[in-house]
Amino acid sequence: MMAEKGILVVVSGFSGAGKGTLIKRLMEKYDNYALSISATTRAPRPGEEHGREYFFHTKQEFEELILQDALIEYARYVENYYGTPKAYVEKQLNAGKDVILEIEIQGALKVKEKLPETLLLFVTPPSAEELKRRLVGRGTETMEVIRSRLARACEEAKGMPEYDYILVNDRLEECVDRMHEIIRSQHDRAENCQEFIEKITEEIAVFQKGEQI
Ligand code: ADP
Ligand code: 5GP
Repeated sequence: MMAEKGILVVVSGFSGAGKGTLIKRLMEKYDNYALSISATTRAPRPGEEHGREYFFHTKQEFEELILQDALIEYARYVENYYGTPKAYVEKQLNAGKDVILEIEIQGALKVKEKLPETLLLFVTPPSAEELKRRLVGRGTETMEVIRSRLARACEEAKGMPEYDYILVNDRLEECVDRMHEIIRSQHDRAENCQEFIEKITEEIAVFQKGEQI
């Protein structure tokens, strides 16, 4: 089949659910994915680099990006701004790549509104206890920040029914494979096969004229 435009995939889920881990593994294991790097005003965590995990900006710089209409969406999350740069996503989709946005729920719903063909995936651990264990175990946030993120998770849970799929991240490898399968299936949806539909419709039309029989 000819290269169609890539699928835009939004991955959301509670902080500590394993989104980053899952996406990293998905990209190691399978080709054809591009990960969008977001802009944020949050401070880098130890080991994070500008342009790799995030584009780290001041509040003023971020507001400039908003004014320039350089973001597909943006949202505030626990005192910081986060947003998706538009240019990279458009370029990769046009090149046929499936583009992953790892963004929170407000941003996810804004993307779906703007681009209804977007696939929305929600990642969750099997239980709340496991969520707390992972978030504390990651050791990247203070207990105060962990508390705000767990409180935020209660709000986020209310948005789960808006998503196309709920991905329970229990065993990592199984979850990665399921995620890949869901995205592959999305390519076969009729609305994502327009070019192929047109091509085969044209080819088949000659039979109507009786020329190729
Ligand atoms: P998120 O990006 O959703 O905030 P992370 O990918 O940082 O979450 O994962 C949070 C913690 O949980 C990390 O320490 C990670 O190693 C661990 N983790 C991720 N997936 C699993 C899993 N399937 N089973 C056990 N631990 C996991
Ligand atoms: P963290 O600070 O843990 O890296 O991210 C906090 C939250 O912000 C996560 O839920 C993450 O998915 C979300 N996030 C990251 N980038 C973006 C973005 O570009 N837009 C939106 N709306 N949320 C984002």
